[in-house]
Amino acid sequence: MILAANLKCNHTRASFERYAKALDEGLAGEILRENEILVFPPASAFCAKVKNFTQGAQNFYPCESGAHTGEIGKAMLDEFGVKSVLIGHSERRELGESEKLLRAKFDFAVKAGWQTVYCIGENLSVNEAGGTKEFLAEQLKNIELGYERLLIAYEPIWAIGTGKSASAEQIEGVLNFIREQTSAPLLYGGSVNVANIGGIAGIANCDGVLVGTASWDASKFLELIRVVSHRYTSLS
Ligand code: PEP
Repeated sequence: MILAANLKCNHTRASFERYAKALDEGLAGEILRENEILVFPPASAFCAKVKNFTQGAQNFYPCESGAHTGEIGKAMLDEFGVKSVLIGHSERRELGESEKLLRAKFDFAVKAGWQTVYCIGENLSVNEAGGTKEFLAEQLKNIELGYERLLIAYEPIWAIGTGKSASAEQIEGVLNFIREQTSAPLLYGGSVNVANIGGIAGIANCDGVLVGTASWDASKFLELIRVVSHRYTSLS
């Protein structure tokens, strides 16, 4: 399984150093052989010392460097060895990131060869009107689904940070639909927690999870990782 932590606007440089140390110490042999762990801290907290997980960027501007006030370019990510990025998270789309900007970011990431977690997801009214698949198909048109370092995260907006995950049937239906279009690993995100991750990990075509709230504390994120690992150990 792929377990990705989106720390959002949480953690300072000092607290993320403690987080990274705790995660590194908690991630041992078996867990690492079976799972891929990604963590997206705020850029101001990037840590030079991570060992057992991949550190990624929640955001970047599609440039090497230059006159882009407030933005972070490839040169700044390179300094920390960051080669993994999130694109299209609904919280950034809500801030006004257009399909055009998302495409520019995607093209830049492809050129750089970065592992790219591309987030898609519908809001509650689209979901309730039965328009989820059409909506997601439109979002997917914006990128090259054959990019070899692509991961797609299905994150229904109404499930993010609400404590109300999509049901297993809903997740399975959407992931099957996306799977018809791409062989990229598929993640689910939206109120994943220690109580529901076992069930979500067992859904067909679910290759991993993108976790917000339940990942902000390293020990809680480790707990999620252990639930998934035990599930596989007990199945094999
Ligand atoms: C997210 O923001 O990517 C997310 C999945 O958040 P949460 O787990 O808090 O719903």
